[in-house]
Amino acid sequence: MNDTRPSLARPIRVLPDHLINQIAAGEVVERPASVAKELIENSLDAGAGRVEIDAEQGGIKRLRVRDDGCGIPPDQLALALSRHATSKLAELSDLEAVATLGFRGEALPSIASVSRLTLSSRTEGEPHGLEVVVGSSGEPGELRPCAHPRGTTVDVRDLFYNTPARRKFLRTDRTELGHLEQVVRRIALACPEVGFSLSHNGRGLLDLAPVGDDPVRLHKRLDALLGPGFAEQALSVSEQAVGLALSGWVVRPAFSRSQPDQQFFYVNGRMVRDKLVTHAVRQAFSDVLHHSRHPAYVLFLTLSPRMVDANVHPAKHEVRFREGRQVHDFVFRALQRRLSSGALGDAPGGSEPLLGRSPDQAVDGIAEASPPNQIGARGPLAARRTPDHDAGWLPLGIGEPLGRRYAADPEHQSGPMDADGQTRLESREIPPLGFALAQLNGIYLLAESAEGLIVVDIHAAHERVVYERLKSAWGAGQAPRQPLLVPLLIQVSPREAGLLDIHRGLLERVGLVVDRIGPGGLAVREVPALLRDVDLERLVRDLIADLAADGTSGRLEEEANGVLATMACHGSVRANRRLTLPEMNALLRDMEQVERADQCNHGRPTWIRVSHADLDRLFARGR
Ligand code: ADP
Ligand code: MG
Repeated sequence: MNDTRPSLARPIRVLPDHLINQIAAGEVVERPASVAKELIENSLDAGAGRVEIDAEQGGIKRLRVRDDGCGIPPDQLALALSRHATSKLAELSDLEAVATLGFRGEALPSIASVSRLTLSSRTEGEPHGLEVVVGSSGEPGELRPCAHPRGTTVDVRDLFYNTPARRKFLRTDRTELGHLEQVVRRIALACPEVGFSLSHNGRGLLDLAPVGDDPVRLHKRLDALLGPGFAEQALSVSEQAVGLALSGWVVRPAFSRSQPDQQFFYVNGRMVRDKLVTHAVRQAFSDVLHHSRHPAYVLFLTLSPRMVDANVHPAKHEVRFREGRQVHDFVFRALQRRLSSGALGDAPGGSEPLLGRSPDQAVDGIAEASPPNQIGARGPLAARRTPDHDAGWLPLGIGEPLGRRYAADPEHQSGPMDADGQTRLESREIPPLGFALAQLNGIYLLAESAEGLIVVDIHAAHERVVYERLKSAWGAGQAPRQPLLVPLLIQVSPREAGLLDIHRGLLERVGLVVDRIGPGGLAVREVPALLRDVDLERLVRDLIADLAADGTSGRLEEEANGVLATMACHGSVRANRRLTLPEMNALLRDMEQVERADQCNHGRPTWIRVSHADLDRLFARGR
């Protein structure tokens, strides 16, 4: 038939093991980063509390992963290096409920077949460590004693030295290092209880101490992994349904990104890129995010290992859910709800999401401890008591139920909108921040909510509302622009000019119109009206530097936010102005809307809540 297929002429042979391993390596070992992923996952499966990763020349020359896990017993060292040898599965039913990161038993032999690999290990109780070197034939050599603390070290040198065709696909050291760092980052995000360090050519790049339950340290670690500010800009997520739990963080839409570079989704502790969940997340953000922007999130979905098949992809980047539809809807609804409750959905004192790699723990936790303190304590939006049905609940000093007062107030007939566009509040329900009672000292607004007393700093709250409004107008691309009578000309390098070309859309959205004139010339033609007084040339140059550094720039928004904040301050209620009750209620409703609009929430608090329990405690009641 076709004589360009010479293989037809050859006899069928069983391939030698070494070649089989090299072929398998094609699926799991793509580059140093994939080696690192397999080795670190092995360390985690071995219960490591600390994992040290040292790389040379992007990990191509050398990649060494050390851990303090359980180690490999002497009689199993050579076995660990043979194909389809694993301690994690014994029979098919294990595969259906696999809770470890590895289970295919092919990483070590595959890596060993395309590198010079040394495996050293020591288990508890052994007098010394043992080390085995894999020869170029792919066969493990003699076991030799070595000094090694409890744990395992895998030292991988000269990746692809014997498969030059594959070596050609490696990129520069820098690029490979970038991939490597990304892998370490992804894994470290999911394992706050494990310490990690990463060094390159002897220089430390990351050093992450394990964090316990301390939210401050956890936030620090998030910032170390994702850049400063992530934790501050994020809403914590902790949602549960029967057999499903979603935890982690989503960044407020106002801090969305121009690139999809901060999207981490884990299923039972395993980072996956799954179309189904990506779609669900995207859809949840669709109401609150411009389509050209990308949400940022770190999310952990936990479900019974029996409900998900991790054995779909050799490198396990994908999973298959048994109930895909249900998982999709759960993720979508959980996030949509979280995004629409905004900062008001945060539990008082900060709610820390369930983290991590222990599916059983988390799923069990759902069954036991959910109703009262998990969901009930998640903030004012969650609690909707009807006053009439609660005898002990009398508004302070005012002899009519709040529900009626609210219903009678023509200004506030319609409550905040639900995410699905329904008016959420029935006339008798109580909005999250309740109803105004009085103004105190000209400065504070006192309100009664279902959960207790709300105290609002009027000026701060109003300033926030104005600021967020300005900011969302800006974010929606409705920021007024102002044409320059004489375009501002700036000389940059052709590469930099090219960057501005690429990001033209983003810039125009925030009101900056820049044309390219010639290879390295830029003409700034229109600027955001809010920014007309800043040093434009400096701003544009800084912008280019940001774009060159990481392909995105928050600088324009930062500058703008500064200007917007100043404007908001001048435009808001001064202290000591008397407000009427309807004015105060209007402010409360505005605050709820703004929180729902999910804009930034840093700086000093604009309101506090003194709960019924707090009051009882103050008056030593109910002891
Ligand atoms: P898998 O992880 O799929 O089981 P691997 O080839 O990655 O397959 O590892 C083979 C076996 O070697 C593992 O099942 C485990 O028993 C052992 N092993 C590998 N790395 C480590 C380690 N860092 N600590 C303890 N045991 C390890
Ligand atoms: Mg493994």
